[in-house]
Amino acid sequence: MSISPRVRLADRRDWVFDLDNTLYPAGCNLFAQIDAKMTRFVADHLGLPDTQARALQKQYYFDHGTTLSGMMTHHNVDPAAFLRFVHDIDHSPLPVSPQLRAAIKALPGRKFVLTNGSIGHAEGVTKAMQIDDVFDGMFGIEEMDYQPKPARSAYDKFLSTFGIDPHGAVFFEDLARNLEPAYEMGFATVLVTSEIDWSHEPKGARPAGPDSPPAPYVDHVTGDLTAFLQGALATKT
Ligand SMILES: [Mg+2]
Repeated sequence: MSISPRVRLADRRDWVFDLDNTLYPAGCNLFAQIDAKMTRFVADHLGLPDTQARALQKQYYFDHGTTLSGMMTHHNVDPAAFLRFVHDIDHSPLPVSPQLRAAIKALPGRKFVLTNGSIGHAEGVTKAMQIDDVFDGMFGIEEMDYQPKPARSAYDKFLSTFGIDPHGAVFFEDLARNLEPAYEMGFATVLVTSEIDWSHEPKGARPAGPDSPPAPYVDHVTGDLTAFLQGALATKT
């Protein structure tokens, strides 16, 4: 099979990783804690029963890219208070993987985290995974002016902040919809899948499962980020 120039990864010089359910495996259930805290925040803030709060949370996530963005648009929520609350979680489920650390370090060029979560969350997670020092920069929802991926402005701000040419960059994500703008901008795209049952998430905004249909804006699919990174350099794909 021939490989088009845009998907040759070994020549790329900027490596951009989503955080949640991408840098750590969805199976460790860290994000489930954040998900539950978002439900709690919405329920308490709006005085709703949990089931209604959860439905609204998912509707905002689907419509606005994040629950926070919907809460800011419709309920004038203070983003700092929301982020402090939902990211106050137990990091102990996170795996520490020397193999992942070595695989990221071995990539040629710069490495970044681009997350719809807060910078504090990105720092806390990467510290717990002992990979915080392998990145050249982290970009969170505050730096996006709270306009999350897949809004084009989030990618534009990130690229200009670090002087990245997307045609020389790779983007890793567990949410296919966040890869679409990246692909259009010139990134090589890698969808990171998991074995989790995501049927409780809104259709069209689900993290990728093993049976996700292929999308034209996804260059590569992997269920094992570490093995993929090792292979990307070893085979010069
Ligand atoms: Mg994610």
